[in-house]
Amino acid sequence: MATNIIILTIATCLLLVSLSFGLTVVPTEQLLHIGVDGELSVELSDLDAASFDFGRLSLQAEPLAVLHPASAEDVARLVKAATGNCLSVSARGHGHSINGQAHAENGVVIEMSRSRSRSKTPILAGPRVLEKERYVDVWGGELWIEVLRETLKHGLAPKSWTDYLYLSVGGTLSNAGISGQTFNHGPQISNVYEVDVVTGKGQLLTCSEERNSELFYAVLGGLGQFGIITRARIAVELAPQRVRWIRVLYSNFSTFTKDQEFLISLHGNPASQRFDYVEGFVIVDEGLINNWRSSFFSPSNPVKITSVNSDGGVLYCLEITKNYHGHNVDAIDQEIEALLEKLHFIPNSVFTTDLPYVDFLDRVHKAELKLRSKGLWDVPHPWLNIFVPKSRIDDFDKGVFKGILGNNKTSGPILIYPMNKNKWDQRSSVVTPDEDVFYLVAFLRSALDTAEETRTLEYLTNQNRQILRFCDDAGIKAKQYLPHYTTQKEWMDHFGDKWDQFYRRKMEFDPQRILATGQVIFKPCT
Ligand code: FAD
Repeated sequence: MATNIIILTIATCLLLVSLSFGLTVVPTEQLLHIGVDGELSVELSDLDAASFDFGRLSLQAEPLAVLHPASAEDVARLVKAATGNCLSVSARGHGHSINGQAHAENGVVIEMSRSRSRSKTPILAGPRVLEKERYVDVWGGELWIEVLRETLKHGLAPKSWTDYLYLSVGGTLSNAGISGQTFNHGPQISNVYEVDVVTGKGQLLTCSEERNSELFYAVLGGLGQFGIITRARIAVELAPQRVRWIRVLYSNFSTFTKDQEFLISLHGNPASQRFDYVEGFVIVDEGLINNWRSSFFSPSNPVKITSVNSDGGVLYCLEITKNYHGHNVDAIDQEIEALLEKLHFIPNSVFTTDLPYVDFLDRVHKAELKLRSKGLWDVPHPWLNIFVPKSRIDDFDKGVFKGILGNNKTSGPILIYPMNKNKWDQRSSVVTPDEDVFYLVAFLRSALDTAEETRTLEYLTNQNRQILRFCDDAGIKAKQYLPHYTTQKEWMDHFGDKWDQFYRRKMEFDPQRILATGQVIFKPCT
């Protein structure tokens, strides 16, 4: 207890001292009493919680304080107080980054998640659905699961998703937000009408395509560099009631990708003549059975995949869904049949299940609960996500799935699915490969502290480096998604042609470079 009080006092002093530096001297009382309606905390439990993320890879980066805001104005007050004092400020959505992107070492973390608000803090308003206008207004720290729950009360739901819903709206919009619906609706950043943003200068601005448009496009996919999203207006549609969820297997990679590319080319078709979701994954071991992303069970086909011959020990699984309303089951059966007939999967490898829409969207959470119960969730996650151009996906298969990964157990799912570039707004900050179609390849692996060398953090991290090096050496112009680099030169290469715009926007909206320093893109001012 006594130690805690001493540490707390030291943390408070550090905070006050750091705020007193800089050209404009901020009275020491100012930060702790900047007049927020929420709470600025230096409690150890808060500092601890803001010091690590889902990746559990980086060294802990402790902030000096954590703000639990009660409003967008609180966020603006804090940023204003930090501006000019070179105190870094990072919004933390749900802390589901891998490499400390939401950290603010020796700065202030703004805990955006409503679920983490304090009892003393006035409750932030929940999502507000406007049925006729077909949108929902949400707090930037809202979790997507809450957005879904609230919109479903009105028979509506957002159009574009991530596979996992315990992520914050501001967090996914700062990256892109992708899943099997992206080929059709675009990423989540293509489904936002308006955002409220607190810039690095502490200004609170409403932005859209028409209003403050430079800031609007800057923050979408902007890695938290230009402002903190405090509200987003998200497009919604009539919510389907049920989902037919289908998996089919391939042993030949080209056949698998040709079918995926064919399915995403149907994006302009009426809903009856396309699927609603197209993903896929690579099975280099018993992955279909041990795939933690879902507890998929096909009553119509309980066959074990060990009976299927694979090409070089690797199988590929196409995952597709069809949404529908309860009454038109026969019509849905026919539509699915017509689409499946055009595909070239291994005969008799159709796995089908049927479930409520919300259960499909929330599928990964069920797997999370299982892993948590086994102590396998809070482990290091050396994840690697890459966008690979369509023209080089065969080379990637040969070099990585059949090459670098070898016959080793993969330690987690490997997703692979294509997307249409024309669904991505080039005015946003995100970068994608320079081709009309590109693939997401996601290595979602968990490291374990076991005797098995191939499951250790060191081994998996090294393998990630090998994969990136392979792309460079083979001239595959891949781009990292949820990117992580440690030097500005690497960031300049990542952004390529977009770097000048990214830099100019930074100088305009966060000239002191105080925001989201955990991304390690710009050197914070001193
Ligand atoms: P954080 O990790 O807290 O923050 C991420 C970055 O955004 C930080 O730089 C932070 O400062 C900034 N930020 C956070 N909130 C705001 C805000 N309000 N305004 C401005 N900047 C902000 N991604 C996909 O696209 N598709 C998926 O299917 C998918 N599945 C996932 C499944 C799991 C289990 C996990 C752990 C992650 C998954 N992700 C997926 C990645 C996810 O999109 C990122 O981790 C993203 O950062 C969202 O997480 P978060 O809300 O916890 O943000």
